[in-house]
Formats: sequence, C-alpha cells, structure tokens
Amino acid sequence: MNYHYIIVGAGSAGCVLANRLSANPETRVCLIEAGPPDRNPMIHMPFGLAALAHMRWLNWGHETEPELNLNHRRLYWPRGRVLGGSSSINAMIYMRGHPQDYRDWARLAGPDWDWSRVREIFKAHEGNQTRPDDHHGETGPLTVSDLTQPNPLSRAFVAAGVECQLPENLDFNGAAQEGVGLYQVTQRNGRRLSSAQAFLVPVLDRPNLTLITRAQVHQVTFEGRRATGVRLRDRTLHLVEGGEVLLSGGAINSPQLLMLSGIGPGAHLRAMGIPVLQDAPEVGANLADHLDITVQAALKGREAIGIAPTFLPRALRATWAYLRRGKGEFTSNVAEAGGFVRSDPARDRPNLQFHFIPAYLHDHGRRLSLGYGLTLHVCDLLPKSRGRISLASPDPMAPPRIAANYLSHPEDVPTLLSGLKIARALVQAPALARYIAQETLPGPRIATDAELEADIRARAETIYHPVGTCRMGLDAGSVTDPMGRVRGVQGLRVIDASLMPQIIAGNTNAPTMMIAENIARGMLGETGLSHSFYNSEI
Ligand SMILES: Cc1cc2nc3c(=O)[nH]c(=O)nc-3n(C[C@H](O)[C@H](O)[C@H](O)COP(=O)(O)OP(=O)(O)OC[C@H]3O[C@@H](n4cnc5c(N)ncnc54)[C@H](O)[C@@H]3O)c2cc1C
Repeated sequence: MNYHYIIVGAGSAGCVLANRLSANPETRVCLIEAGPPDRNPMIHMPFGLAALAHMRWLNWGHETEPELNLNHRRLYWPRGRVLGGSSSINAMIYMRGHPQDYRDWARLAGPDWDWSRVREIFKAHEGNQTRPDDHHGETGPLTVSDLTQPNPLSRAFVAAGVECQLPENLDFNGAAQEGVGLYQVTQRNGRRLSSAQAFLVPVLDRPNLTLITRAQVHQVTFEGRRATGVRLRDRTLHLVEGGEVLLSGGAINSPQLLMLSGIGPGAHLRAMGIPVLQDAPEVGANLADHLDITVQAALKGREAIGIAPTFLPRALRATWAYLRRGKGEFTSNVAEAGGFVRSDPARDRPNLQFHFIPAYLHDHGRRLSLGYGLTLHVCDLLPKSRGRISLASPDPMAPPRIAANYLSHPEDVPTLLSGLKIARALVQAPALARYIAQETLPGPRIATDAELEADIRARAETIYHPVGTCRMGLDAGSVTDPMGRVRGVQGLRVIDASLMPQIIAGNTNAPTMMIAENIARGMLGETGLSHSFYNSEI
C-alpha cells in the first residue's frame, strides 16, 4: 500500500499530525515509531516518572560530547522512545511560553507564528478543567488539570517566593507568566495524558491510519529531489505520487535522519561517505537547550516524598488512591511548583524558570537517595550559547553526536549564577526554611561567586528542552520554510521541536504540539482559527 503521508516518530508532534491528517478517510497515513506501544503502567501513573528513569528500553538515553565549559562532563539527555515520544516520559507541565517568544518567531518565520494566531491553536488543543476564562480552551482533547494533591512543601515553596517579593501566579498561561505558583499538568483523571493518549489513541480505529511500532526509519528515499518514501531495516514504505514524508523524530533524531538521507552540511556528509543530495549547512546547527542547576536540602521531617522504610505506608496509600480514584500522592508530576523571574528587570520577559520538587532528585532520577529532601531547579530560559547535532557514523542505528556547547556564550554564565543565588534565597526564606535541616547542595561551604560558578560547571544538567536543529525561517539559510518544508527538495517536511527558530521561555511539549497543529492546518488549507475540528471529531 502507498501512503499520502508517512510520519516518522509518534511523539508530541507526530501524534497530532496523525490525528489531523487521517481525519479525511480518503487520505492514507502511516505513522512509524521506533519504540514500543505505551503499555507500561509507569508511563500512565504520573509519579511513575521516577521509575521510568530506570527503563532504558523506553528511552534513547542520549549523551552529549564532553562539554568544554562543564568540566568536560558528558551530560545525559533522556528522550522518549515509545508511543507518545518524550510526552510519555516527561514531567507533564503544561506551559505555552511567553507571548514575546512568538512575536520573535513571527519576525523570524512569518505571521503564521505570531502570538495572536498560536494562542488560538493552544486554546483549540486545550481541555482546561479549572480555568474557564478567555485565556484557555475547555473542550480540546489535551486535558489540562490542577494537581490532585500537591505536597505541602510545594505550597511552602510558593509562600517562600511571596516572602521574597515575587508575585504569586495562579495561572502561568493566563494574563502574565511571571511569579511563583503550582504548575498545571497534562493529566486526565490523575493519569498522564501524553500526545499519544490525547491525539492518537482516540482515532486509532480509522481504517486509513496505519501505526507501526518498534520500527526505526533509516533513511528517506528519493527519486531525483522528490521524497518517495522511507527505508526501514527490512523494508521500504512508499508514498503515492505527490505524497509527503513528515519527520517528527524530535530535535536530535530529525536532523540525524536528514543527514543520513543526504541533506546536511556537504563537507560533513562527504566525510561520512554519504552522497550529498542537498548541501544544507544549518541542518543540526542552532541547537539550544535550557541548562539547569539545583539547590538541594535535607529535611527535618517527613513531608517530602522519600525513599525510606517510614514512607512505605504512605506509598501503599498512594498506590491505592491512584488505582481507586486517580488521586493521591502518586498523581504527582514530581515538578509540582515553580515560577518565572527576570535576572535583570530591564528584560522584556522572564529569563529564569524554577522547578520545585518535594523530593531528592539526583542524576535525573537514575541515582536513588535515601531519606527526605527537596530539590529546587533553576534554568536559563533564553541562553545565547548554541550547539550542533552531527553524525558520528553513517550507521542509522548509531547515536548522533550532540555538542550542546553550554555556557559558550559569555552572557550565559552570569545569568545562571544569578538564578542559583535566587534559588538559594528561596530555599532560605522562612516558609521553606522551617522544614529544612541543612542545605546539601551547593552546600554551606560554597559562598562566593567564584565558588558558585565552579559549582555550576561541576553540576549543571539539562532540563530536557533541546530545540532548533532544523530551524524554520523566512531566510534562504534556514533548513525549512515556515511550514516545515525542507528547502531544496520536494515532498519532505520536518515537524517537531527542531523547527523552533528560537528557544522559548518555558517548557516545550505544548509548543511542539502547537507547531504540529499549525502546520497541519496549513497542509489542509484551513485558514480560519475556528475551534470546531476537535469539538466535532473527538
Ligand atoms: C524527562 C523529560 C521531562 C520533560 N518535561 C517536560 C514538561 O514537564 N513539560 C513540557 O512541556 N516539556 C517537557 N519535556 C520536553 C517535551 O516533552 C519535548 O520537548 C517534546 O516532547 C518534544 O516533542 P517532539 O515531537 O519534538 O519529540 P518526541 O516527543 O521526543 O518524539 C519523537 C519520536 O520519534 C521517534 N523517533 C525518533 N527517530 C525515529 C526514527 N528514525 N524512526 C522512527 N521513530 C523515530 C522517537 O522514538 C519518539 O517517539 C520533557 C522532556 C523530557 C525528556
């Protein structure tokens, strides 16, 4: 069978595309996912996030090259390799970014990306359960909820922010982004709502939609400069004439697949022995990510979610409450609270974000710590450092090279340093301090700016938002045009987080789903901004 659309990757973007493009029963759509179906119960129970860190078979488990400015450390970059992609392993925070981000996008990639338009798309996706106002949609398939049982420490974090003169924010996706508060999450009835559960599963019975899991695409096939299909390990799938291949493999895998298919920096491809179809120097370039540093403290009491024999009765109650009613502590998304601040009041939008965790968190959850503690993350939202994805080998099964180049821009060091100082002040504010036995990281011995900077270089990690590696733009140097069409060839688009022309000041899941929706609308010729599609279809 030949397809009108072949979508590579069933992640945040791919599942939205599969839904929208297969709505017409005449259109044959094939969605291909490298990972397995999302059957593991730890995906669906929000706190299962902690266990997912140990399930390597659901995760690409990338590592960066040794990072020059982070003491030559290789950083761990988890990415979902399962139905739903990273939306099946992420922390479920629902965040759109700042309106100013999209005004920048409109300047770089045209009016289809202006805030006034993308805001309506966010609203069309959204099924917000507790914010019935003009900022939100209430009937979309992406259910957005308040946490069912936030930990008392998360509320104490918000109170600590207010004590530090930060405004309390009851809705980060409402009138203003700035301030501290509890996050809203993509959950329905206390269960994770991945992109797969929101957009794909409800339409899987469409006869014109084929889903293939556990199948990694190795290459896009071409006749001349027109894409004709994709090659898997054991077979080739074909497009109908005029059909399109849509790459939604995420910010690491999509540029890798373009390069494996002969589209990328010419000299690099030749060095890898790959025939050059299109010399596209920016494929893999412009890699931006949110670098993050933590403050950690040991607690006097047992308010946190802990690893200790004394936590066992609570864990049993939490499991029961989750299974019976979709409530309780195990519906926690771990990063329950947070906020946005400016490192400098002159900035036009917040450039630091906090994620508060009422638990110890070490090495992305891969290393377990006994006892009761808290972790406050802070990241630089608008870094100027840029990195690159390149091939390590022409073998499609070999992981690509990730050079994030963190802190290579001199302005990024003072920004993260000021974030670390604010995070420390928050943890020391009375509302939190009364719970705390002692700060364990950076620790009481780290005091001067030089010591804090050294601590950042020794400990900073990703907070999981790599974007920009197949930048869309109005300019001829961009990898794709503003609708994701890869320049220099026909019948091939990239549609995922790698399209972002500039990293946004917030978490990246909802914006990636918005990107897919916006381009799907363009492909289907829907020019209006009505909300009717999901209301009538799902
Ligand atoms: C641990 C973690 C926590 C996060 N927390 C949050 C959060 O709380 N809120 C938020 O907004 N964002 C969060 N994010 C970020 C967000 O989830 C991602 O930005 C978003 O999911 C990216 O979507 P995508 O469609 O670009 O890629 P993905 O969702 O990663 O999807 C890509 C899919 O393509 C598949 N694939 C790749 N290559 C191939 C191939 N060659 N053949 C077949 N299939 C392929 C992959 O297996 C994957 O399923 C988090 C991310 C992580 C990893």
